[in-house]
Amino acid sequence: MKYVLVTGGVVSGLGKGITASSIGVLLQSCGLRVTCIKIDPYLNYDAGTMSPYEHGEVFVLDDGSEVDLDLGNYERFLDCTLTRDNNITLGKIQQHVMDKERRGDYLGATVQIVPHVTDAIKEWVERVAMLPVDGKEGPPDVCIIELGGTIGDNESRPFTDALSQLSYSVGPENFCLIHVTLVPVLSVVGEQKTKPTQHSVRDLRGLGLTPDILACRSTQVLEETVKGKLSRFCYVPIQNIFSLHDVHNIGHIPLLLKDQKTHEAISKVLNLASIAKEPSLE
Ligand code: ADP
Repeated sequence: MKYVLVTGGVVSGLGKGITASSIGVLLQSCGLRVTCIKIDPYLNYDAGTMSPYEHGEVFVLDDGSEVDLDLGNYERFLDCTLTRDNNITLGKIQQHVMDKERRGDYLGATVQIVPHVTDAIKEWVERVAMLPVDGKEGPPDVCIIELGGTIGDNESRPFTDALSQLSYSVGPENFCLIHVTLVPVLSVVGEQKTKPTQHSVRDLRGLGLTPDILACRSTQVLEETVKGKLSRFCYVPIQNIFSLHDVHNIGHIPLLLKDQKTHEAISKVLNLASIAKEPSLE
């Protein structure tokens, strides 16, 4: 199984969900079978009990589960049918661990975040990644995992710990980390600023996660000099830094990524050359 983890830096609402779905579309167009998992680090069991004013409408899956709106994007973009287990919340993990504890599954052990909660997250991800969501038989080729929230959030710590363990256990050729980050322009100076991204990449590395690709959200196309600076300070090859500037129609984002050859960068990290073909997106 190949994993693509999408994280977000600097601020929330950057477009991680849309970016992750668009990467899925691009990989599908290369002939790969794609599934996805959305991680929401809040303690609610599911999105059904949260304010729609804060989190947007609840999306209801075919199995009746109430999940984050992003799952709707995934189903529409990837033409797949997801289940309740494709949306992991800290509440679900906590309940799962406590049920095991009450059953005596950990008997004798002190139940801790590491390893019990992190193992539960890792096992959940590895199990759900193998389930087909496209109506075909057999496991998908790639699982896209979107980590909700922003890197550095306190509550996402069990997930970042579990995901860094996952990346270590599956090895670098099976794990590609795409960090979606913000490159703001200060109106008075008129320059695209890299410092927030530098800090957020430092935070990411401090959590044991190494970005392979940077997807930079900005109002305008990312300048080449800015890419060079990001590459030097974040230790990410310049050909793996992509401009995710504002577009009028989010349906164009898969094309924006294809035109910059994002599929080639992902394919190189994950060693997909033998199973991926040229993208058929137009
Ligand atoms: P997150 O998952 O990071 O919270 P979302 O994926 O929900 O963010 O996106 C937040 C908003 O930004 C959505 O309304 C989405 O349509 C919009 N958006 C994302 N990427 C772009 C882009 N490149 N251009 C314009 N709007 C975008």
